[in-house]
Amino acid sequence: MNERKEKRLVYTREEMFEFNKKTLEERGVTIEAIADITYFQQSRYTQNVSRNVCQESVEKILSLRDVFHHVQLAVEIDRLAEEGLLRGPIQDIIHDDLGLFGVDEVMGLDVAGLYGIIGQTNFGDIDVNKHGIVQDLNNAGKKEGICHTFLDDIVGAIAAAASTRVAQILNEEIANELSGVKRLSIYDFID
Ligand code: MG
Repeated sequence: MNERKEKRLVYTREEMFEFNKKTLEERGVTIEAIADITYFQQSRYTQNVSRNVCQESVEKILSLRDVFHHVQLAVEIDRLAEEGLLRGPIQDIIHDDLGLFGVDEVMGLDVAGLYGIIGQTNFGDIDVNKHGIVQDLNNAGKKEGICHTFLDDIVGAIAAAASTRVAQILNEEIANELSGVKRLSIYDFID
């Protein structure tokens, strides 16, 4: 008897993070490479940006359901285009990353928009100036048989969202200091 595979539509945050991490790694993108862009972008505005907070922000964003859907869809569209499996004119338009095709940027803006308009302007900076891994993906995507049309925008958007999260954390710390709020640490409970 044929056993029907159980359908599964929802995943835990931990599972979504692991799926995203694996999917991105299979496409040559590590969390560290995304965090590098976040660190580079925020370091232009603030001194002493913590590399750990950048990495943690990327990881947090990769566990969000919206981002899970975006990453999984973006990578699948690129793969289908690489394998020539899309039908009609859109196959070549996506495969060759036509400059006037903007749906990939819409997806990027949507992800970056999780962190408001600042997230989106940060995405615009990465999209135009192509920092780090985004530039690498862009270059590699020009080679025959490789399609990174959607991946470069999703990766840039995750870096931008993380960068905005880092800025929010830093501002929260400054505000707490200014208002005299003391943050307790474990050492406050030890004589
Ligand atoms: Mg693109």
